[in-house]
Amino acid sequence: MIPYGKQTISQGDIDAVVEALTSDFITQGPRVTAFEQAVANKVGAKYAFAANSATSSLHLACLALGLGEGKRLWTSPNTFVASANCGLYCGAEVDFVDIDPISYNLCPSALAEKLAQAEKDNTLPHVLVAVHMCGQSCDMQAIHALSKQYGFNVIEDASHAIGGKYQGEYVGNCRYSDITIFSFHPVKIVTTAEGGMSLTNNPELAKAMENLRSHGITRDTDSLEDKNQGAWYYEQQDLGFNYRMTDIQAALGTSQLSRLDEFVARRNELAQRYHEKLLSLPLKTPVVAENTLSAWHLYVIQLDNPDCRRQVFDAMRAAGVGVHVHYIPVHTQPYYRKLGFDWGQFLAAENYYHAALTLPLFVDMTEEEQDFIVESLAKVLA
Ligand SMILES: *Cc1c(COP(=O)(O)O)cnc(C)c1O
Repeated sequence: MIPYGKQTISQGDIDAVVEALTSDFITQGPRVTAFEQAVANKVGAKYAFAANSATSSLHLACLALGLGEGKRLWTSPNTFVASANCGLYCGAEVDFVDIDPISYNLCPSALAEKLAQAEKDNTLPHVLVAVHMCGQSCDMQAIHALSKQYGFNVIEDASHAIGGKYQGEYVGNCRYSDITIFSFHPVKIVTTAEGGMSLTNNPELAKAMENLRSHGITRDTDSLEDKNQGAWYYEQQDLGFNYRMTDIQAALGTSQLSRLDEFVARRNELAQRYHEKLLSLPLKTPVVAENTLSAWHLYVIQLDNPDCRRQVFDAMRAAGVGVHVHYIPVHTQPYYRKLGFDWGQFLAAENYYHAALTLPLFVDMTEEEQDFIVESLAKVLA
C-alpha cells in the first residue's frame, strides 16, 4: 500500500538521534533549546517552545491567552479535532466558522458575518484558531483586521504548514497572530515522532507557555516570591503540565529542519505533477492563492460526483493506494453533536467533505508511484 503520508529519515537524522541518546541529557535539555532557536530563526519569530505534541502546544497557547470558562473559541470545522478540543480543555465554549470552498480554509467573509451577529448577541469569541488546511495559509491579513476590529486573539494552527509562506514570509512569524503552532507528527512536513511547537513574539505569552509546559514551576530568580532561598528552591505558581519534548526528539527535529526547504520544494513539484496529470479527470484539483506558498502536507481533490466517493475510496485502497479523507467536519463528531452541534450547520465544510479525497503525497514518493496513483484513479473513475 502506498501510504497517504510518511516521514523521510536520513542517515544524518539517525546519527543525530544516536548522539543525543548517548549524551548526558535525554529528556528536555540543550537540544530542545537548540531546536526551538533553530525553528524561531528559520520562520522569524522571537520565542519558540517545543512540546510533546501540537495538541499540547494548542492547549498551552489557549491557557496563555487566558481562555477559560465563560469564554469562546472559534475555529474551522474542516480540521483535525485538536484545533477545537483545546478550547474545551480550558472549559471554554467552542463554535465554528464555515470554510471557503476554493481554499478549504476558514472563510473571512463568513467570519465577518458571524462576528457582526455575535456582537449583537454579546457572544464574541476570545480566541480564533485559524487552521492552514493542507499547508496553505489562511487569509491572515483579513483575519488580523477582524481581530483588531472585534478584539479577539488569533492562534494559527500551522500543523500542516511549516515551511510554507504567506506574502513572501514564512508561516510562523506571527505577523498577523498572537501564537503559531507547528506539529511534528510523522505525516507532517518535518517530524520528531511526536511533537509540537508554539511560537510568539509576545514576551508575556512566551513566559506563560514555558511555565505551563512544566508544571507551572519556576526557578527564575526574578520571578520567585521568596528570593532568599538556596539553589534547590523552586516555586509552583500556576497549575501546569508535563508537556515537555525530549532531547532525543529535538535532535531529530533539528536534523530534519535543515532539509525543510528541500522537503517543501519536492512536495510542490509533486503537487504540480498531480495538477497536470489530473487535468482531464472528473474532479477539481486544489487551488493555491497567489500570495501563498503551500507546504503541501495534503493533496486533496474534490470529486465532481460525491455520490461515488465511497466506491472510489474502496477501489483505490483495493488497488494498493492509501487514499484518505481529510476532514470529517468536527461539528458532526458524536462528541460535538452531544454539545448541540449537528449536520447542516456549516454547509461549505460538509459539501467539501462529501467530495473530498486525499491522494498520497510525501517526499520519498517516486514519480512511478505517482503515475500509478493517477492511472488507478483514471481507471476507477472511468
Ligand atoms: C496533526 C494536527 C494536530 C495535532 O497534532 P499532534 O502533534 O498530533 O498533536 C492539530 N491540528 C491539526 C490541523 C493537525 O493536522
